[in-house]
Amino acid sequence: MRANILEIKKQNKIRILKYISRKGSTSKSEISTELKLSMPTTLQYVKELMESGLIEETGSYESTGGRKAKALSVVGDLGYVAGVDITANHLTVVLVNTRKEIVAAERFRMCYAGDMEYNRAVCEKVFSLAEQKEVSREKLMGVGFSYPGIIDSDQEILLRSHILGISNVSLRNWKPLFQIPCSFENDANCAACAELDDASENAVYLSLSNTVGGAVYMHGQLFPGENHKSAEFGHMVIKKDGKTCYCGKKGCADVYCSAAVLQKAGEGNLEDFFEKLRRKDEKILEVWNDYLEDLAVMIVNLRMAFDCDIVLGGYVGGYLEEFRTELDLKILEQNKFDLDTSYVKIGRYKLLSSAYGATRKHIDSFFETI
Ligand SMILES: [Zn+2]
Repeated sequence: MRANILEIKKQNKIRILKYISRKGSTSKSEISTELKLSMPTTLQYVKELMESGLIEETGSYESTGGRKAKALSVVGDLGYVAGVDITANHLTVVLVNTRKEIVAAERFRMCYAGDMEYNRAVCEKVFSLAEQKEVSREKLMGVGFSYPGIIDSDQEILLRSHILGISNVSLRNWKPLFQIPCSFENDANCAACAELDDASENAVYLSLSNTVGGAVYMHGQLFPGENHKSAEFGHMVIKKDGKTCYCGKKGCADVYCSAAVLQKAGEGNLEDFFEKLRRKDEKILEVWNDYLEDLAVMIVNLRMAFDCDIVLGGYVGGYLEEFRTELDLKILEQNKFDLDTSYVKIGRYKLLSSAYGATRKHIDSFFETI
């Protein structure tokens, strides 16, 4: 019986920690209301969590009268997690603290090789970033990897990656190199974790990078599908008998909405395309108009299927804020079921989203260990 009570206490404290972590900062009354705990119980748990050095007061809220409510946050330097985003031509490394703040980030031009030499180089980049921030190896709790492909996280296998041109690759070589827990997840799922963590319980993430992918977030959790293949939005057909996709089908969204479409038209990288667009290059304007029309079709299809927020990310997502009005007009033309486009959100973490999202699992696991 006593053991049972202790377990309930522990689980409640973990719930509170995770809630504070998700909110960034919150108040005791908000914890009590949202987690349906009585105020005296909440006060007791908060006191214990503060005494254990897991949370701290980080300011106070404006008050309309009476005492100002204190803002509570998770203590930041309890530990750190590295996030590593592997793509064909780049490596992105972030260092995140227990408050889920990015304390350091670096992006390198580095071609994927997948051999031991490559793995060692990645490992060095991670440890050198930690060293720069004076984070000791003891404080590094884990490494989360983001891969552009279909991942079986439990078996630690990269089942297939079109971009990297590989299939059935074991990812178990990483752990002996780092000597700390390593986890693996699909890049769009990682980005979705980053962008949707403090969003509503349900949302769909659409990743617009060199391939088009996505993730479905349902009741606060990723919906992986039964074969790790959910949310392959890039292979939804948006044009019957359209152009041929790398998957072999015709008219897939990937052919029309990937960042590669814009890069090709811009005859350079994505920045070159947007530079020409800002200069109102006629040919580029035409490509952009078509791109936005096709993207609007995708967005509206997803809205019809899921009836929740649609978050846009990936390489192109990083540029969309600037062209929001044009995109909104195209969406409104397509969608006769919603009065406005407030359900369309643009991701905040841009090029860091997948690396950042890859760290989430380790930080949440850390809260389970209190
Ligand atoms: Zn396809």
